[in-house]
Amino acid sequence: MYQYRRRLTREVAFGKIALGGYQPIRVESMTNTHTMDTHATVQQCRRLYEAGCEIIRLTVPTEKDAENLGAIRDQLRRDRIDTPLVADIHFSARAAMKAVEFVENIRVNPGNYAAKQKFSVEDYTDAEYREELEHVHEEFAPLVEKARKYGASMRIGTNHGSLSDRVVSRYGNSPEGMVEAALEFARICEELGYYDLLFSMKSSNVRVMIQAYRLLVRKADEELRYAYPLHLGVTEAGDGDEGRVKSAMGIGALLEDGLGDTIRVSLTEDPVNEVPVGFAIVKKYNDFHLVKGDRGRLPLKQVVESRNLAAEQAASMQEDLPFDPFTYQRRPSALIDIAGVTVGSDKLPRVETAVRTPLASHEEVFEELVQRLAPEKPLDAIRSEFAEIRVAAENDLALLDDLLKRLGDAGRFVSAVTADTAIFISLLDKVSKARLEIVEGEMLGTDFLKHLAGSHRAVMELSFVHEQSGESVPAEVLASLAEKLRKQGVENLMFSIVSEREVFTCRKLVQVFKNRSLDYPLVVRFRGRASGRLENLIEGSIQAGTLFCDGIGDMLSLETSLPADDEINLAFNILQGARVRMSKTEFISCPGCGRTYFDLEHATAAIKVRTGHLKGLKIGIMGCIVNGPGEMADADFGYVGAGKNRISLYVGRECVEENIPESEAVDRLIGLIRDRGKWVEAR
Ligand code: SF4
Repeated sequence: MYQYRRRLTREVAFGKIALGGYQPIRVESMTNTHTMDTHATVQQCRRLYEAGCEIIRLTVPTEKDAENLGAIRDQLRRDRIDTPLVADIHFSARAAMKAVEFVENIRVNPGNYAAKQKFSVEDYTDAEYREELEHVHEEFAPLVEKARKYGASMRIGTNHGSLSDRVVSRYGNSPEGMVEAALEFARICEELGYYDLLFSMKSSNVRVMIQAYRLLVRKADEELRYAYPLHLGVTEAGDGDEGRVKSAMGIGALLEDGLGDTIRVSLTEDPVNEVPVGFAIVKKYNDFHLVKGDRGRLPLKQVVESRNLAAEQAASMQEDLPFDPFTYQRRPSALIDIAGVTVGSDKLPRVETAVRTPLASHEEVFEELVQRLAPEKPLDAIRSEFAEIRVAAENDLALLDDLLKRLGDAGRFVSAVTADTAIFISLLDKVSKARLEIVEGEMLGTDFLKHLAGSHRAVMELSFVHEQSGESVPAEVLASLAEKLRKQGVENLMFSIVSEREVFTCRKLVQVFKNRSLDYPLVVRFRGRASGRLENLIEGSIQAGTLFCDGIGDMLSLETSLPADDEINLAFNILQGARVRMSKTEFISCPGCGRTYFDLEHATAAIKVRTGHLKGLKIGIMGCIVNGPGEMADADFGYVGAGKNRISLYVGRECVEENIPESEAVDRLIGLIRDRGKWVEAR
């Protein structure tokens, strides 16, 4: 919860490589060609190999595709490409039985392997449930035996969007159902003495995905013989920045927890684009072990023996945790008002970005403030609701006055930051939000604290700048300050920490505040240290997104080297990815694979252009039916591949237009949105 430590798992073989155990976290991708098209598939595998992809997955819809895996593998090996291959199986046990002869790993989906999946909510009696499980056992056991014979490992890959009717009837479309679906298959494997397993628990909803993986670890560690490796991924994450942000948040939140042995970033783009994003996500965690070695990680045998003990300890610690890792609940906080904008309690998390130009460059700062605050846009548009400027010296105060005067009404959304207590006191009557940076080791005198009592124009934010090790320091210092100020009756107060390890330090702050019944609103701050665009996107999404997914944070404040518009978009993408603030249409689009028979990338782009302004509306765009109806439960409208250049349209889980030509489908989708009263014209 408060420091990084990777969960040690059983090492599982993947041809020339292994994953889990002490192996680095691997980066995977998946082809989107038709597996019967040997040439195109080999070409794409080569491109993935050249991009550094460590494991390549191919879809295997039929037995014929499975047979063609042999030709693909042989060609790749002749070309000296020995990247491990994974066969991706849905529905077909026959395809699985053939594919396992040619690949290093086979992925089965427990939601549709030998199970009913009509997406109907039927009631199963205990006897019917047992009967279906026995049928699963009969169908699945031969595959397990064959995987053992051919030396292939297996991923039990659960998808939130494709749970079996059996599981949904008993557990709902929930993290509990996802976990139980996987455990039913894992029990069969262990019964047969087969242990070369890994798990995945994917969902397009980042919060559901995080909770499902955590719950799986909790339950599997209580029950199964080994701690099996985890393959992490956010499914149907979409494309562009949104897809990268969602993937980084979901995968990164779990990596921060120490969970995950291999990852796949799913983008509705060329799969080659997934590889650098994957490496950017895992770099920090793999580097950690390069620097620190395996210190702090238990040998496997001890891990296995201590598993039950760990589970007991975790259960007893639960009450003292800063948040519930398995269920979303927003941290309760007080409501405050900044320049007419409410913050905290159940209000939408607010967005602040920082102006990096020094105040001395007066004109540039003015222009940047206007760009960030965009006073011409409506208040609920994608814009920085507050823009922070640094006031470093006394001389800056006059420059600040001048700027505020020039900005007129927009000036009330300027917040100021300083590390100087005297300047801070001056700021309290100038701006609507003033932040004091408290540097480690600095003492704030009683006289200074007295100045903070009484009425001021500004809401105060006390911010601990934490560059050292030792996570408890900033939390304890800020909690003591908060208690003193509470005694003085100070209410318009917020707290934050500026740290490279924002996730851990903020969690500690929440826990300490919770123990002392302090409900001041918290600002999640991300200060980008990298210069690259992708690195800022990834690290910001991991550090800030993890906290918001766990219900922590009333305001998001970014300070990165990104251009202003990019930075503001990143903030809104993080809040939307965590589903705490919807500011645009939510697109749930799969990456496509050999089951896709229409131009998915093109269709996604066309739908985005026409519907991107429908704030809060969720549109699912699926290459095929596999995850379609299940994910549609989470979407308002769906556009799902139904065959060669044919599309079916959904409203929620109901298919309302079946098998229509692709050339008409986008227009018909727009018509459907209009008919259902969800259309608004773009402003
Ligand atoms: S939903 Fe998309 S990625 Fe998943 S199997 Fe269907 S086409 Fe392939």
